[in-house]
Amino acid sequence: NPNNSSNFIKHIVKEDLAEGTYDHIVTRFPPEPNGYLHIGHAKSIVLNFELADEFNGETNLRFDDTNPLKEDQEYVDAIKEDIEWLGYEWEGLRYASNYFDEMYNQAVILIKKGLAYVEDLSQEEIREYRGTLTEPGKESKSRSRSAEENLELFEKMRNGEFANGEKVLRAKIDMASPNINLRDPVIYRISHTPHHNTGEKWCIYPMYSFAHPLEDAIEGVTHSICTLEFEDQRPLYEWVVENCEIDAEPKQIEFARLNLTNTVMSKRKLKQLVDENYVDGWDDPRMPTISGLRRRGFTPESIKTFCREIGVSKADNLVDVRMLEHFVREDLKLTSPRTMSVLRPLKVVITNYPEGEVEWLDADINPENPEMGTRKIPFSREIYIEQSDFMENPPKKYFRLFPGNEVRLKHAYFIKCNEVIKDDEGNVVELHCTYDPETKSGTGFTGRKVKGTLHWVEATHAKEAEFRLYNSLIDDEKSGDDFLDFVNPDSLEVAHGYVEPNMEEAKAHDKYQFFRHGYFNVDPKETTAYKLVFNRIVELKSSFKL
Ligand code: ATP
Ligand code: MG
Ligand code: MG
Repeated sequence: NPNNSSNFIKHIVKEDLAEGTYDHIVTRFPPEPNGYLHIGHAKSIVLNFELADEFNGETNLRFDDTNPLKEDQEYVDAIKEDIEWLGYEWEGLRYASNYFDEMYNQAVILIKKGLAYVEDLSQEEIREYRGTLTEPGKESKSRSRSAEENLELFEKMRNGEFANGEKVLRAKIDMASPNINLRDPVIYRISHTPHHNTGEKWCIYPMYSFAHPLEDAIEGVTHSICTLEFEDQRPLYEWVVENCEIDAEPKQIEFARLNLTNTVMSKRKLKQLVDENYVDGWDDPRMPTISGLRRRGFTPESIKTFCREIGVSKADNLVDVRMLEHFVREDLKLTSPRTMSVLRPLKVVITNYPEGEVEWLDADINPENPEMGTRKIPFSREIYIEQSDFMENPPKKYFRLFPGNEVRLKHAYFIKCNEVIKDDEGNVVELHCTYDPETKSGTGFTGRKVKGTLHWVEATHAKEAEFRLYNSLIDDEKSGDDFLDFVNPDSLEVAHGYVEPNMEEAKAHDKYQFFRHGYFNVDPKETTAYKLVFNRIVELKSSFKL
């Protein structure tokens, strides 16, 4: 895979170091604290932290908190937790809002140089004057203001003498530029809104395209990596770096954002799913957030391997979400204990097994990793099997249990079904079977063969458990105009059944492979001393091929 060993950004960094453009590299991960991080952010985190690490540089975590309206401390805390959980350590913890004084000073410098002016036009008028791709923009009257007048007005903006939207500060670049982003972009706006970090101190806030290059320059960031939609803004980024008075010279590099099948990945949409109760919070196990994936049972390693393997490119693409699932299976295969659970139980009475007796059988914890040892599981006259492992009138080639048929119970004996017990409505509620003591697992019995092997749990020792089985929250196959039309109403299925008694000790985030059912995580929020809740991470098999 050419992607994970090298990528075009590494080439740029290598060249910059070889040519002495920089003697040391600094990257940053710059989330806006207006929501929780998602798997797309993970791609950027892995890229920024691992790039710096490879070249002995460093990475800052910078909260890009220049928009007071949507930001919140809850998000700041969650973002830090998620990055730490992924296993990265930032060099500096920075807040763009700590640079507001410096940004203001740089705006004043631009005004003095005749490179910025206070605009009286409304937002609407500014848009009208801006022109189109085929038509140049029009210069407004404000453009010819003197530096003195602009300085005075800008100070009044800062002092709160104008209402929201009454004035803005614009960079004076080129109203006829073929790049519309350079047609005197707004760089400061008025917003009488308290800020989660600076409180009431400011009522003017810098725009992203002015603030971001300054933030990078102030921190000495060398390679400012962002997603492709900012490509058109790069000339403005360079204009700010060139015309403001800061020594550092960061450069912006764009890469394609991650898109995943059956997944929405914008914080705005994810927030809507939370706010409108389509899910149970940002960390709902169906969410593509880092906290949702964690609660579902994905490991940091599986997420990081996925991010490395999808690579970094300049071309937009859509990645199959099953690829992420592939990596968690790979990660858990050798490390998670295997055990048996019955999700939808059907009682089986073994009529020739002595009443009141219990024997303890030996079972491997993980046959692919014998170092994990063995466990003891009870066996007695009453067990549970899966309802779907029995059929009264089976089709041809059904090898599980049916009247008169014999199957193997994993780690135990062969049993044969003799009698089907039904309730008044004709539902099968119990099976009566007999076992053959000669067929005990591990004794080398070869007398006869059976085709089906069932999982089971012994009834009197079993622990009750709840199982949450997930399907895609978003279904690309559906149609509609709004992303909410794509929400899958069957994304969660809940089953109540049993697990082996040795799982009494299971703690939040313990991960197991349940025989035939897949990989499961002990839910950290809803599991209590009295109730075990398991989230299915993934099923065992997938048709997906890497
Ligand atoms: P969203 O649109 O989901 O709100 P954003 O880009 O507005 O995302 P930020 O908090 O600004 O979110 O993003 C922090 C960093 O993560 C940015 O550098 C951004 O480029 C990167 N990023 C966000 N989404 C993706 C994605 N899907 N793939 C790769 N990188 C991403
Ligand atoms: Mg954003
Ligand atoms: Mg965005």
